[in-house]
Amino acid sequence: MLSKDIKALILDVDGTLTSGNKPVVSNSIKNWILNSKKHFYIYLCSNNPSKKRIKLIAEELDLEFTYSGGKPSKRKLKKVLDRIPYSSKEIAIIGDRIFTDILVGNRLGMYTILVDSVDSYGKRVERNNFQSIERYIAKIITGDFS
Ligand SMILES: [Mg+2]
Repeated sequence: MLSKDIKALILDVDGTLTSGNKPVVSNSIKNWILNSKKHFYIYLCSNNPSKKRIKLIAEELDLEFTYSGGKPSKRKLKKVLDRIPYSSKEIAIIGDRIFTDILVGNRLGMYTILVDSVDSYGKRVERNNFQSIERYIAKIITGDFS
């Protein structure tokens, strides 16, 4: 990723960093973020309407955040981009949903990274119906069944 001149990361929260009701991030993901902070400007952007939940997670990780992000709408993401001192081409958005995180990333010219959903222990969720359906629809739309 470094070779692509990516300077900043916008991270989705639910399903990407953690899941469930507790605002807890696993140690493995916490360590990943600590290490990534050495290389990237990191910002959290969640569609979750609970300011309390996202704020607790952001404070735990010492990161700026936006809640009720409205992805894939561009409106709030543009405000996020205004706060990041890099151009959209230098920003990667990382998330677990094609039709929110990846779609808004593409709409705003960011580099996009789709990840498997994780649970609150940071473990990959084996069965995620939402994601399976999204990936299937995306395949139909793009015709890419590789
Ligand atoms: Mg998510």
